[in-house]
Amino acid sequence: MASRIEFNKHGGPEVLQAVEFTPSAPADNEIQVENKAIGINYIDTYIRSGLYPPPSMPSGLGTEAAGVVVKVGRDVTHIKEGDRVVYAQSPLGAYSTVHNVPADKAAILPNAISFEQAAASFLKGLTVFYLLRKTYEVKPDEQFLFHAAAGGVGLIACQWAKALGAKLIGTVGSAQKAQRALQAGAWQVINYREESLVERVKEITNGKKLRVVYDSVGKDTWESSLDCLQRRGLMVSFGNSSGAVTGVNLGILNQKGSLYVTRPSLQGYITTREELEEASNELFSLIASGVIKVEVAQEQKYPLHEAQRAHEVLESRATQGSSLLIP
Ligand code: NDP
Repeated sequence: MASRIEFNKHGGPEVLQAVEFTPSAPADNEIQVENKAIGINYIDTYIRSGLYPPPSMPSGLGTEAAGVVVKVGRDVTHIKEGDRVVYAQSPLGAYSTVHNVPADKAAILPNAISFEQAAASFLKGLTVFYLLRKTYEVKPDEQFLFHAAAGGVGLIACQWAKALGAKLIGTVGSAQKAQRALQAGAWQVINYREESLVERVKEITNGKKLRVVYDSVGKDTWESSLDCLQRRGLMVSFGNSSGAVTGVNLGILNQKGSLYVTRPSLQGYITTREELEEASNELFSLIASGVIKVEVAQEQKYPLHEAQRAHEVLESRATQGSSLLIP
């Protein structure tokens, strides 16, 4: 028997329940992975709450984990039993001791990277890759704004930006988070509980403001993020931690300076195996060489059956960096 986290109605963390199940054999294009560390992502809370409803109920949860391949479907040629792998963008159900995953969503893990490092950084690192390299290519010395800089995606972005020689201005919700983001490589931090975001950005940039803003907070920061942009600047709205941005009057882009907006997602950028290999090779080499450090605080590693608590803590904004479930 295997165990996994399921939910059969939308709601708060309390809807998550641990259940026993018998795993089915992997389909021809799938591998079966015995998970060793499972990545917790903010999107998991959107699926649980109903903001992004799952295809059916009861539903599993989670799309990212690292582990060992225990079975291989007939058509899979590039991964074999016993391989150490990490995957993201799997069908819902990664919060589980074992999970069947399309082989094209998995990458073989270099020995230098642990299961915990991999599960803490794969989906988030692929996201930072496409945001900073593809959606808008940040240049050396370029200043840009990145919200939630001490979060899971945020700490990787701070380190990646530094490696690119770019100047990440990060927003944070506490003094401790400010310190963590600066240690990770943020060039400047703005604690929006104590300072005005827009005024600080104007000050830091000598009134010039920014070419690009990466905003994962959503509803609460939509308008102030637009106010941090130069004429014809780009708003990259890539998340909804405070709620979704809805009901936008496009005229606002005109009023605030002929702005551009994009609403990207990982599957829009990393869909094919080639795209996954390009991004994961770059991410793995930055982690293996120590340029990007992935450290998960002990108190943010939870046994699988404590998924409820993990979600409560994540949504309370008390976490720094990534959180993991350990089967
Ligand atoms: P984080 O670890 O960044 O956690 C969310 C953080 O957002 C909080 O710690 C908090 O930091 C900040 N925040 C601001 N306002 C709120 C609020 N009202 N409620 C809760 N948190 C708030 O999560 P992840 O690293 O997992 O994800 C970061 C964001 O990136 C999410 O919005 C996620 O959906 C998005 N994302 C998008 C992807 C895409 O392809 N589009 C892919 C992956 C992630 P603080 O206290 O410092 O404000």
